[in-house]
Amino acid sequence: MSKSVTILGSTGSIGCSTLDLVAHHSNDFDVVALTAHSNVALLAQQARQFNPKLAVIGQSHLEDDLRQALADTDIQVAAGELGLREAAQYPSDFVMAGIVGAAGLAPTLEAVRRGATIGLANKECLVCAGELFMSEVSKSGARLLPVDSEHNAIYQVFDFDHPESIEKITLTASGGPFRTTPLEAMSCVTPAQAVKHPNWDMGRKISVDSATLMNKGLEVIEAWHLFPVSKDQIDVVIHPQSVVHSLVSYVDGSVLAQLGSPDMRTPISYALNWPDRMDSKVEKLDLTSVGTLQFEAPDLIRFPALKLACQALQTGGTAPTILNAANEVAVEGFLGERLAFLDIPSTVEEVLGKLDVIHPTCLGDVHEADQQARQIAQQIVARLGT
Ligand code: NAD
Ligand code: MG
Repeated sequence: MSKSVTILGSTGSIGCSTLDLVAHHSNDFDVVALTAHSNVALLAQQARQFNPKLAVIGQSHLEDDLRQALADTDIQVAAGELGLREAAQYPSDFVMAGIVGAAGLAPTLEAVRRGATIGLANKECLVCAGELFMSEVSKSGARLLPVDSEHNAIYQVFDFDHPESIEKITLTASGGPFRTTPLEAMSCVTPAQAVKHPNWDMGRKISVDSATLMNKGLEVIEAWHLFPVSKDQIDVVIHPQSVVHSLVSYVDGSVLAQLGSPDMRTPISYALNWPDRMDSKVEKLDLTSVGTLQFEAPDLIRFPALKLACQALQTGGTAPTILNAANEVAVEGFLGERLAFLDIPSTVEEVLGKLDVIHPTCLGDVHEADQQARQIAQQIVARLGT
């Protein structure tokens, strides 16, 4: 029997890699719903190739374009926030949560509420509404399978039956394109340099997050929600080769790690097939050609975003929500060449300093904190604007 699959964010880097795996194993999977934000041409092409029941475009004004592009098919078309929710609610065995940013929260929650198995790539869900999101997961019995490579690695080697035997988890970080760049030179790096990741081929937002190390900070918060460890049991180490994807240290001194070539199709295929494994077509890891594996401590002076995220985790409440929203606005400002690279963490820090942190009791509280943080971040971007 084939597994039915929904892909939220099918036109992105995660979405395309997921479809690549599905195409190589077409007898095992049946795509039922696809969503994209604005790329009608690619969504229509994917819909023609994979023949889902439903194709959704996030930007409502593009609905007619998508409808026209699929007019000679029997694929249902929908649009906007309601359409995205409809796609998430559509019955399927597996949902890839591959939308970028807090925009992925509402649709991913819909999939959680119907108890689906979810491949979680969208880490911002957990950063901006972690406690509420995880309580919905336990209420519905949905299964979360981490797709972020570090969390996927930890998931594979974490002894969930004996969490007391775990001393700490260590997330590896490549260090990004500016790992060795002096602070003075970092002030004038361009978006083109920032999105050119040394090891991974990813969307633009996460590429900038990797360059500031905010991505690792978001992942520390993500890890705290996904694994039964305390906030102080999560460590970060820079590992430029991106071969060791993360590690779990046990009290007896054993350290278990998952290794592989830096290709997201490995963690995606793990989530798609769990509890089985399949050929992902990923280039096999050849340690002799890698030669050397390096590890170093992160530099929190040049990469203050990591520190800000760890502090937001310690503070708790809406602090991570504010951090995430301010970062999304600042990254957009940087990509639009309206903000300098080093102003990304300083914008986030300023927003965090301006807003009171509350303990959110409902998604409305999260939404309000998110909106307030975006508004203040936008004012800062306008003020600092280059
Ligand atoms: P991407 O920018 O390549 O793709 C994002 C997808 O989300 C696209 O399909 C886009 O159409 C859709 N989208 C964007 N904004 C939207 C909105 N407002 N409403 C609805 N849909 C929207 O991003 P990506 O690199 O594929 O990353 C997706 C998520 O996976 C992110 O949360 C990222 O942090 C996480 N992730 C990605 C990688 C990677 O290798 N790319 C690795 C680990 C985790
Ligand atoms: Mg990652």
